[in-house]
Amino acid sequence: MQLRTGRLLSAALFPRIPSLAGSLRCSAVTMALATFAVAAALPAAAAAADPQKLTVVVLVVDSLMPDEFGQSYPATPNLTLLRDEGTSYAHSRAVFSAETIPNHVAMMTGMMPEHSGIAGNSYWNRTGDPVATDLSLPSELEATTLFTRIHDACPGVRTAAALSKSYLYEIFSECGYSGSDCGINRAPGQSFDPSADPTFIPESNHTPDQTTMREARGFLPDADFLFINLGDTDRSGHIDASGPSGTPFARYAALMDTDTLVGQLVDDLDAAGRWDTTVMILVSDHGMDWSTPMNYVNLTPDLDAGLFAVQNGGTGSIFVVDPADPDRNQKLAAARSTALMHEGVDAAWYREPNPLDPGEDTLIPASLGARHENIGDLVIVAKQGWRISDPSSSSNPLPGNHGHLVTFHNTFVVTGGLATLRKQTIGDPAAVVDPMSRLPEQSENTDVAATVAWLLGIDATGMDGRPLAEAFTSAAPPSICGDLADSDADGDPDFRDPCPYIAYGSGCICPPVPDADCRQTTHPGASKLSISGDDVQSLRFNWKDGAATSLDDFRDADDEALSLCLYSGADGLARSIGELRMPLDLLCEGESCWRELRSTKLRFQSADGHPDGVEKALLTAGGDGQARIAVKAHSGVLAATPLDLPVRAQLQSRGGGCWEASFDGQGIKRNVPGRFDAVSGD
Ligand SMILES: [Zn+2]
Repeated sequence: MQLRTGRLLSAALFPRIPSLAGSLRCSAVTMALATFAVAAALPAAAAAADPQKLTVVVLVVDSLMPDEFGQSYPATPNLTLLRDEGTSYAHSRAVFSAETIPNHVAMMTGMMPEHSGIAGNSYWNRTGDPVATDLSLPSELEATTLFTRIHDACPGVRTAAALSKSYLYEIFSECGYSGSDCGINRAPGQSFDPSADPTFIPESNHTPDQTTMREARGFLPDADFLFINLGDTDRSGHIDASGPSGTPFARYAALMDTDTLVGQLVDDLDAAGRWDTTVMILVSDHGMDWSTPMNYVNLTPDLDAGLFAVQNGGTGSIFVVDPADPDRNQKLAAARSTALMHEGVDAAWYREPNPLDPGEDTLIPASLGARHENIGDLVIVAKQGWRISDPSSSSNPLPGNHGHLVTFHNTFVVTGGLATLRKQTIGDPAAVVDPMSRLPEQSENTDVAATVAWLLGIDATGMDGRPLAEAFTSAAPPSICGDLADSDADGDPDFRDPCPYIAYGSGCICPPVPDADCRQTTHPGASKLSISGDDVQSLRFNWKDGAATSLDDFRDADDEALSLCLYSGADGLARSIGELRMPLDLLCEGESCWRELRSTKLRFQSADGHPDGVEKALLTAGGDGQARIAVKAHSGVLAATPLDLPVRAQLQSRGGGCWEASFDGQGIKRNVPGRFDAVSGD
């Protein structure tokens, strides 16, 4: 049987991380332990996988920045493999303010803060005496959450949330902690209140990742959609005084532990037989920036009476206390002018136009989608290396902060075990992008909800986010309410079936008709094809003296799909008679089935011939007349002989590579039941 997590190991062919082999051995050990734990702790019925069911996990590593994993330190083998196995976005953007609650709300509603009402972590509710409180009340959340949408559209899909922070638990509850602040949404099917757990840390308002992941793994057997927030990386970052040095040691130590826990979650899914029907969105809510102790901006002392400042880490919100204040515009203009004189202030924006200080550039940029009254009447944004501290200069002693624009860039990876996931990086990682701009190719946190809805076939019309369908090889949603398509009703989802049940999906790449633009051999007679047998046929294909081809020509950098495509019949009548897949990322007993030999050859070896029967292939690069292809298979997926002529054999990659031999006329030596033998050319 194929090791399904094994799909994670495909980097072996093109090693990117030196420590990969070691880390994978660790993962195998955790996997064995996890299997035992699952078997021991969970009811058998719950642990058994439904092969037809999609699992969707949204995993938030709080404040993780894309350049903090993927290198040797901090060691993050599991996060790195997840990134390399999926589609990652070089440019991804948080919502404003780049704080935890608004961004988790954006992920679960698909809405920008001006449509969700959740524009910061803290706010003043504009009634009674001005006081800063968490913006975590369900009654303030004006947008529909995924939990509610899924409940209404797909009652069979079971939802769960394991969120480390009490304010995240609260915002996605039906009513707040007081029991009175009830909203329009339904709570997740399963969730846990971190503040009720003995390991809860009141100072940081969160449970350690050990606890949060324990809860998440406990929910897993009864969850089809699971939302997780791991808070340790963020919380250790906030208090990490080594942050301004450029190497936040405590944060990186926490991240390495988090990485191990993420590996356990993947191992659980794998042990339950669910990994290859899992899509995981690995994301962070925002980034992190560090300031030295004296780099703070304290707004309160300079404010006119009647204004009130609420800090949000790297941003500050100023509220007009009396809505009827006749001097409001004058006071706000003075506050803006004073703030902009401070060396630590990057920007100061009104929520609504101020007639005393007009101009589009005085307003919160429209592209931030944050003009909601909960963000205040004037927003102050800190520069990189600075923080907002209110009401007093000692109110925010944290070296690590976020909210401001430099912390907008977040992690966004669509990954998992589903075979239709594409491995790619979208956008140029070297490009510098203005956080205010919205690039068509970038992802945003609002895209999480739209993508989850799309995966489940739920209508997401009206969301600000977009479904990231480009992360998949198939343009159609993979499931309807979590039920994966099974066109031939054989009990296995389409992507596990032989080709061509999903053309262009799940590793099937042979088009229904032959490719007209292929590399050829340099002379007739240079290729041979033989097929023999009845139910299981033995196939040998040899293509030699071929047109110039490099190893990279054979490799499909895009998604590493490579197949031998066989066609039968004259032009216009030609039909596919079988596809033998040999993806470059395929694993054989835990290691890549492909090896590079002496920089000139790629060799494929698979003892059990998974998935379509190819046991051996050798691709040889070379100049004109020197390239070669040899394929040997025992396969049950080919059409029976005799075959309509001509017969064409084409090695194809999804990226457009094609190498062909055609068999017809006098080249046909035998074409009878149970036997086809031919050399190329007429
Ligand atoms: Zn956060």
